[in-house]
Amino acid sequence: MRIGFIGLGNMGLPMAANLVRAGHSVMGYDVNTAAIVAHEAAGGHGAGSIAEAMAEAEMVFTMLPTGRHVEAVYCDESGILKNISGAALLVDCSTIDVATARRVGAGAGAQGLPMLDAPVSGGTTGATAATLTFMVGGAAAAFALARPVLEAMGRTIVHAGESGAGQAAKICNNMMLAINMIGAAEAVGVADRLGLDRAKLFEISSNSSGQSWAFSRYNPAPDVVAGVPAGRGYTGGFATSLMLKDLLLAQAAAEETNAPTPLGAHAARIYQAVADAGEAGLDFSVVFRWLSAQARSEVS
Ligand code: NAD
Repeated sequence: MRIGFIGLGNMGLPMAANLVRAGHSVMGYDVNTAAIVAHEAAGGHGAGSIAEAMAEAEMVFTMLPTGRHVEAVYCDESGILKNISGAALLVDCSTIDVATARRVGAGAGAQGLPMLDAPVSGGTTGATAATLTFMVGGAAAAFALARPVLEAMGRTIVHAGESGAGQAAKICNNMMLAINMIGAAEAVGVADRLGLDRAKLFEISSNSSGQSWAFSRYNPAPDVVAGVPAGRGYTGGFATSLMLKDLLLAQAAAEETNAPTPLGAHAARIYQAVADAGEAGLDFSVVFRWLSAQARSEVS
């Protein structure tokens, strides 16, 4: 298939490389020319503009930082909707707010162009290994067309519902993850101060009702679970800054829908404090190290 790919960053570049590996012709564009050079080195074709990346494309992917970038790339004069000539299927894989996803999807729909919001989880490791989870919003027919192509980049591909449903699933999942991670970090922190062996708590709680993915598979304390970011100084993994971004998106959605999220709001404040302490670039499980360095009176 002829594919346009806009946004060749930490996620987009390895995702585009997997599309190339699957035999697709991928025309990539990024405002950062070094990213285009890297895409060409991986077997893709480089484009000098959004219009060039889309020319003759049957499918266009975008993987951009925020809703503001997505709105610009789709709706500006030099953007996708003003310059598209054929009938490409549009797929935005960025994590953005539900309202922008729906608005841009409706704009595409008004031009007769099918569009999916398809945010991912799995991070750069999953993007490289083609094991991402795709949470997809949009029409069922468009999902059916996109699915075989998404399978070249991911392992779990779920049609979540109509336009915006992919973004809704992503922010709900990550709000739960953040709350669970802080819960795991608090429990290990109390255990430490009580003198309870972390390995014993792990043996008990990973088989008991307190267990969560954050505790059992991604434990935030070093030396409990092998291969997690905690064991390598919280490097790699899912950055605190990205978790904070998703929590703020979840809070915006909760506000718009009048949904009570007291723990989600508190998790956002805690991750803001972790980021303000200079840990924004480290994996979000670093919340354990940050909490462990505080006195009870310092964190509310
Ligand atoms: P990134 O900043 O590394 O990549 C974004 C790319 O978009 C950059 O290369 C940037 O130059 C490019 N870009 C920005 N504006 C552009 C424009 N107008 N035209 C063309 N290119 C433009 O970000 P990332 O880590 O690849 O994340 C992308 C999205 O995926 C974000 O929404 C993020 O929240 C989400 N996400 C990231 C991860 C992760 O672990 N990195 C995991 C899941 C989801």
